[in-house]
Amino acid sequence: MALPRGLPVVDHHCHLSPRGEGVGAARRFASAGGTHLFLTTQNYSASAPLSLSEYQDQFDTTVSLARQIREEAGVVVYPVVAPYPVDLITAFSAIGAERALELHLAALDLAGRFFRERKAVALGEVGRPHFPVSAEVSEAVEKAFNHAFEVARESDCPLVVHSADLDAAGFGELAGRAAEAGVPPERVVKHYARERLGPPDRHAVTPSYLARRELFREVLRDPGPWFLETDFLDDPARPGAVLDLATIPRRVASLLRDRPDEADRLWVPFSESVEKVYRFRPEVAGGPQR
Ligand SMILES: [Zn+2]
Repeated sequence: MALPRGLPVVDHHCHLSPRGEGVGAARRFASAGGTHLFLTTQNYSASAPLSLSEYQDQFDTTVSLARQIREEAGVVVYPVVAPYPVDLITAFSAIGAERALELHLAALDLAGRFFRERKAVALGEVGRPHFPVSAEVSEAVEKAFNHAFEVARESDCPLVVHSADLDAAGFGELAGRAAEAGVPPERVVKHYARERLGPPDRHAVTPSYLARRELFREVLRDPGPWFLETDFLDDPARPGAVLDLATIPRRVASLLRDRPDEADRLWVPFSESVEKVYRFRPEVAGGPQR
């Protein structure tokens, strides 16, 4: 069975590097049937930025790579930028606690400006390291996370959260933080969700599910908003660390083959959820939108 007409095929979270496979990976995504990528920034050099101008360079690199992918691979790319939460730890030891936090907050403000200038569609990744940290670092992490919510409220933009795996209580905590900051909970996205959470357990926060075969099957009938992602890392040193960039179009192809009657469910992660969280609809050239 063919893809429903006008349906985009979207990977909601990946990283690509001009020094890695880069545009080539996007071409593989496109030839497998993918149409839209949310491209999250990353450190493109060996260590975390220690100045605001290094963050500016990093975010600019993400934005120009997005443009290059659109031109050369024909994939629509939505950049997502923010200082990575783990950067704070590196900066702590390099420039000291006070300056590290100051830099991180300024980089969050810069990310907000990228959103307001329409160079990015969300702040991400923001949140907490996925491993235990010292009390001092943890205090700074919480301040930075609160600031991310403030920037999201002021700029009226979505937040893509990096953290350890969260259960229902963890989703509840994010929803509480969103309410306190005045950010709609559905605009808070927990990226790299590895287990299905039913609607009551999500507390209206949006999960972005890792597109593993079993999980994809489990969540397909859930009401939105929710996304699918590979968290592709584009790091030749860590092959297979996460899913390959062609995974989501391949999942779509096998669904169309094995359970074609469920194909219409794909409007939820690929179109309706994007509209709910990001307030735009990914368009596919030539296809009338549902
Ligand atoms: Zn990521």
